[in-house]
Amino acid sequence: MAKTSSTSTGPVKKTIAKTAAAIGNAAIEKDHNEGKLMEFFCDQLKDIYWAENHIKIALPKMIKAAASPVLQAAFQDHLKATAGHISRLEQAFELLGKPVRGKKCEAIEGIVLEGESIIAETEPGTAVRDTGLILAAQKVEHYEIATYGGLAQLATNLGLTDVAQLLTTTLAEEKETDALLTEIAENSINCEAASE
Ligand code: FE
Ligand code: FE
Repeated sequence: MAKTSSTSTGPVKKTIAKTAAAIGNAAIEKDHNEGKLMEFFCDQLKDIYWAENHIKIALPKMIKAAASPVLQAAFQDHLKATAGHISRLEQAFELLGKPVRGKKCEAIEGIVLEGESIIAETEPGTAVRDTGLILAAQKVEHYEIATYGGLAQLATNLGLTDVAQLLTTTLAEEKETDALLTEIAENSINCEAASE
């Protein structure tokens, strides 16, 4: 009886040990993957932090270049909002216990350059220039919307609820700006540009 029981618990114990090892390995792998994902997430935060700071420098040039007072006011408002986006990202770094750092965002650098060439290639004070400025600004907004949308989802997956909330708040503001620019283009500037 004692012999039977010892032979039957032998394989069971082995199976339990194997299962525990498998769970242990999976846990290590999961930790490792989450570590990598967190690293990627922080890297992307640095990218958008650099982008927002670059946009903050570009917006005054766009305000100066715009002909329509309505468009100027929209850019002015977004400049203020951008300062808020920067401060939310700084809060996110703080929540993560990471230093506030930027990492060059090639995409935003390119879109801003495109905006500068629109200014260079169009006549001052024209609705054609304003149409171009809106187009350039909406490309920026769409980049930001894609980034904040993706990062908010990633933050949620990583269990970073507070960080996700900050990113979602900025996402809503970028969407609002995009919609406002569409409205300005549709309601006045595009028609004016067509008749210039
Ligand atoms: Fe922004
Ligand atoms: Fe924006």
